[in-house]
Amino acid sequence: MARSPQRPRRAPKAGAAGRSRPAAAAPPITAAERRRADLIFERLDFQHPGADTELHYRSPFELLVATILSAQCTDARVNQVTPAIFTRYPDAAVLARATPEELEPQIQSTGFFRMKARSLTGMARALVERHGGQVPASMNALSALPGVGRKTANVVLGHAFGVPGLPVDRHVLRVANRIGLVQSDDPVAVEARLCALLDPERWTRASDMFILHGRRVCRPTPLCDRCQIRQNCRYFQRLGAKAPPARRRATP
Ligand code: SF4
Repeated sequence: MARSPQRPRRAPKAGAAGRSRPAAAAPPITAAERRRADLIFERLDFQHPGADTELHYRSPFELLVATILSAQCTDARVNQVTPAIFTRYPDAAVLARATPEELEPQIQSTGFFRMKARSLTGMARALVERHGGQVPASMNALSALPGVGRKTANVVLGHAFGVPGLPVDRHVLRVANRIGLVQSDDPVAVEARLCALLDPERWTRASDMFILHGRRVCRPTPLCDRCQIRQNCRYFQRLGAKAPPARRRATP
């Protein structure tokens, strides 16, 4: 059904913390742009049913730890490391007593392990000192923790608390720009634009689908012949425009 340009986006069904507010104001969005974004969302949903974070976790604390470890690392590698970490440091209070030097060899395989060890211990201490050892369910409180940026906070809000948020990583940047939903390399601007295009209850899932699409199909060298949204993709349309005309079959 066509959406009226004046019709406001529906409010999310979120917890008391409400949705994660985009960091930047987005330029006005037309009804046609929203319809196109909804169509792309539905086609991606068809291509990647059940898209979700691939990080393994059982609590907001575990997801926060896993997400910090996932920077510049694959989720599969993080999932190999985290079971032992979660057993040894089951909550913020225990992790807060660890030193970065103690953590480093345990997370070395995830890369950037010195920086991540400092982030994890600093984050755990801040949770204990400011939040009674619990992970807060607000963007402001989460992004004020050591080692926690807006992307990590949105991952935790969306998946652990059901608070709509749209994490923007390199896959989201690449895919959304190629499709033509955004024209920016600035994650904050891209988050604001995608949040303006989509209903809040779609934000977290949209990010998960863009990430999966970027890993499996719209890779740095894209596999457009496997893509369900190529008819709606500006990059594919430009490719078609540049392609040489099909040769006529020679008549016998
Ligand atoms: S058509 Fe190609 S470039 Fe466009 S989203 Fe699909 S894989 Fe990416």
